[in-house]
Amino acid sequence: KGLHKAYDDGSTRHDVLCGIDLELGAGEVVALLGPSGSGKSTLLNLIAGLDAPDQGIVEVAGRDLGTMSERERTLMRRREVGFVFQSFNLVPTLTVLENVQLPLELTGRRGAALRDEAARLLSQVGLPERGSAFPDELSGGEQQRIAIARALAHSPALILADEPTGNLDSATGARVLDLLTGLAAERGTAMLIATHSAEVVARADRVVTLRDGLLR
Ligand code: ADP
Ligand code: MG
Repeated sequence: KGLHKAYDDGSTRHDVLCGIDLELGAGEVVALLGPSGSGKSTLLNLIAGLDAPDQGIVEVAGRDLGTMSERERTLMRRREVGFVFQSFNLVPTLTVLENVQLPLELTGRRGAALRDEAARLLSQVGLPERGSAFPDELSGGEQQRIAIARALAHSPALILADEPTGNLDSATGARVLDLLTGLAAERGTAMLIATHSAEVVARADRVVTLRDGLLR
C-alpha cells in the first residue's frame, strides 16, 4: 500500500516507485509488466522484504514487514516466500540438488524425505539427472529452472519471480509456466511474475503494468 522508493546516486534523486498499491489473493497469478528500468525488480525486492520502502506498507500473509525485526523478516521469508531471482543466485559451491534442498533445510526438514522432495522438484522442472552437477556446469536456462525448483521447494504462500522464463525456449518456458500455475491452483500460492513474455501474460489471472512509478 502506498509504496514509494527512490534511489540517490549522490547528485540526483531518482524516484522509481511513486505510490504503488497492489493486492494479491491466494492462488492468484499476476503478471507484472513494464519497460526495463521501470522498477519491477525493485518492487519484488520490497515485497520480499529484501529492501525497505521509503514510504508505504508491505504485508505478507497478513503481517506488516515494516514492524518486524530483520530476523523476523528473514524467518518470514524462509517460510512464506519463494523468490526466483533474475540472476538465479544459485550457491556456486553447492550441487544442484543441495541448492534445491537448501530452503527445505532452512525450515527444519532433514534426511531422506528432504532428498526425495528435492529430486521430485528437479524432475518437475525437467532436470532429473543434473542433481550432482554444480551450477557453473549448467546452461543459463538450466540454472533458471533450478532457481525455480528452489523457490518452490518449501511450498511458500507467495512466489515472486523476476523474469523466470527469460532464458528458456518456448517449450521449456511453457512447462515452467504449467508448474507455476498448477501450484497456484493446487496449493493456493499467490504469484507475482515480472515478465516481458506474452505467454506469461496469456496465462495470468491479471496483468498490471509499471510505468513512470505507478501501476496501471
Ligand atoms: P526493472 O526490473 O523494471 O528493469 P529495476 O527495479 O531493476 O527495474 O530498476 C529501476 C530503476 O532503479 C533503474 O533506473 C535502476 O537503475 C534503479 N536502481 C535499481 N536498484 C538500484 C540501486 N540499488 N541503486 C541505485 N539505483 C538503482
Ligand atoms: Mg528487473
